[in-house]
Amino acid sequence: MPELPEVETTRRGLSAHLAGLTIKDAVIRNGSLRWPIPKNLPKLLRGQIILSLKRRAKYLLMDCGTGTLILHLGMSGSLRILPANTKAEKHDHFDLILNNGTLMRLRDPRRFGAVLWHVGDVHTHPLFASLGPEPLKNNFNARYLYEATRGRSISIKQCIMDNHVVVGVGNIYANEALFRAGIKPQLAAGKLSLPRCAKLVAEIRATLNEAIKLGGSTLRDFVDTSGQPGYFQQTYWVYGRAGEPCRRCGKPIKQIRQGQRSSFFCGFCQR
Ligand SMILES: [Zn+2]
Repeated sequence: MPELPEVETTRRGLSAHLAGLTIKDAVIRNGSLRWPIPKNLPKLLRGQIILSLKRRAKYLLMDCGTGTLILHLGMSGSLRILPANTKAEKHDHFDLILNNGTLMRLRDPRRFGAVLWHVGDVHTHPLFASLGPEPLKNNFNARYLYEATRGRSISIKQCIMDNHVVVGVGNIYANEALFRAGIKPQLAAGKLSLPRCAKLVAEIRATLNEAIKLGGSTLRDFVDTSGQPGYFQQTYWVYGRAGEPCRRCGKPIKQIRQGQRSSFFCGFCQR
């Protein structure tokens, strides 16, 4: 599943290819995504100028001035820039035809992605209205996390994976950041001290930034704009390493289930 680093990598990769171009047309081949692609979208998009490509959580926001095209990659989606005459394949459900001889193509085999149009301030859209802060922005900080977790008995791992607390911290990054911060995943969120909140915030950011630098790390069939696979196997501290020796202390990494997700941790290094 594309996580925040893959989406951010996609955004950075596509921005340079899209900004300033005019949309000539849009093609919907299969509009049955997570929500139906609006049937009148080609009509709405024709002649729109792409001002910028932004991101909120795992949504890409294409600002066209009069409205915003909202894109989500779902479980298996990828976006690529291709010559306009490139033949569509089975899972190529949506194209934006651009005025420079290229197109932007959404491929999404599992069809959990989304293509939506919103007029007005996009941050008021119901998808975004109740989201917590971005993990890489300054309003996600030690004081914020401390306040957000007071009185909460939910585990700290489930807490940082909750989009209402902070967006975009997927399972891999939650596991890795907690190890790096020395915090065990099952610790009650409300028991985290302010200094430990600071440490966790710093490690969440570092973990995400490193993954963004590597070009995204989890989606095997991610293809970046130059056609290269964007899948870079990171060396994980704990994720997927149950039973293997901790890279710090050598004791075996443990695995438990929390909220239907696997947690990996070192019982010695994480308290
Ligand atoms: Zn250890």
